Amino acid sequence: MEDVIIIGGGPVGMICALGLAQAGVRVSVIEADPQITDSPRAAVYFWSVLEGLERLGILQEAEAAGVRKQDYTYLVRRSGERIVYSMELLTGHTPHPYNLHLGQHRLTDIAMRRLKAFSNATVRFGTRLQKLHQNADAVTLSVVTEHTTEELRARWVIGADGAGSTVRRLLGLSFDGITWPERFVATNVYYDFERHGYARATFVIDDGFGAVIAILNNEDLWRCTYMEDAALPEEAFLERLPQMYKAILPGEGPYQLERASPYRMHQRSAPRYRVGRVLLAGDAAHVTNPTGGLGLTSGLFDSYALYPALAALILEGADDEVLDRYSATRLDIFLNRVSPQATANKQLIYHANGGGRKLEEALASLRRLATDPEFLWQRLMFTKSLETPLLGHVSL
Ligand SMILES: Cc1cc2nc3c(=O)[nH]c(=O)nc-3n(C[C@H](O)[C@H](O)[C@H](O)COP(=O)(O)OP(=O)(O)OC[C@H]3O[C@@H](n4cnc5c(N)ncnc54)[C@H](O)[C@@H]3O)c2cc1C
Repeated sequence: MEDVIIIGGGPVGMICALGLAQAGVRVSVIEADPQITDSPRAAVYFWSVLEGLERLGILQEAEAAGVRKQDYTYLVRRSGERIVYSMELLTGHTPHPYNLHLGQHRLTDIAMRRLKAFSNATVRFGTRLQKLHQNADAVTLSVVTEHTTEELRARWVIGADGAGSTVRRLLGLSFDGITWPERFVATNVYYDFERHGYARATFVIDDGFGAVIAILNNEDLWRCTYMEDAALPEEAFLERLPQMYKAILPGEGPYQLERASPYRMHQRSAPRYRVGRVLLAGDAAHVTNPTGGLGLTSGLFDSYALYPALAALILEGADDEVLDRYSATRLDIFLNRVSPQATANKQLIYHANGGGRKLEEALASLRRLATDPEFLWQRLMFTKSLETPLLGHVSL
């Protein structure tokens, strides 16, 4: 019997697994897809999550694969106003006074390759959870592969199987909240935004052509995410893309689309992240619209809280009440900090009333980012406030 089985080999599952394996816990990752999915998704890792990647020993490799950046711009499309600020203020206060940009599949891959070096860890692709049953001592899972159905047993299970989580459904948990009426389109595009004075994270504020634009690597690959009416036929989103790019991309230069993916957005959470021996983490526990990059940020902070707590329980006999605290604190942070801020970010970028009073109020506040260091400091500290202090400690 395994100590821990993790359902879902996305970034949250792999990071949890790496932390547990490094601590000495026997852990398996079960992933339904045949390989790590590389659709365009999370790309920004705030300074505040980098310490956790360093503790896991993967920060250096992640930084080598991605781009460090400190610069931000809010660009008001109609007036051309640019509000520019930098994270330089953090220098001297943290070893990592910058954000890292990197496609989430690259981070997941780095974590997985490290994980595979541990004899106490296994990763199984093409294996899908179908059933789950638990009693006081263990969890029994029924998984299917292309050819077989198998039963697996573990003392603890982590459901890190994303927004459509099977684990959450099998636990009978609701996923309360809202689904936004709009569709987001995440695109990866080769384009020289910097030539047009764009910061490496630029928020274009506009009701019709708002966008979040962020560099992904040193070869001029950028993420450009925009929004469209979900009533438009999804299958034709690529036909509409040139029109959107014409409005969003600065200048006339040619672009090369690398990939694009439409998706629905939600603000939803399970009512709790622990049921007996089963825990939820990442998108399986909570989902948010991605404006401002708080989705995976929350998932990483879930992992950083969960793997040491579980390791302390398994290896050092800590009280399992630590898992209730995990559930309560992560739920509170999602409902009261992450979700409201992500909603405000979406409102600002995509629905700021085309120049009305609401936009002016928002801009007055944003301008302070460029002129008021104390205000900027508070802003930069926000993502740190999404962290749960260590709930349990093991010597890694
Ligand atoms: C387009 C887009 C852009 C985004 N941009 C950002 C951003 O800039 N910043 C940010 O912080 N967040 C962003 N997010 C959110 C971010 O991608 C998610 O928060 C993140 O993927 C969550 O990771 P996860 O490991 O919890 O879940 P996932 O990445 O969804 O991984 C879940 C895994 O579980 C597997 N799985 C599912 N069901 C089963 C089963 N029954 N059995 C076995 N395996 C199963 C899936 O195949 C998948 O690999 C974005 C999301 C989208 C969709």
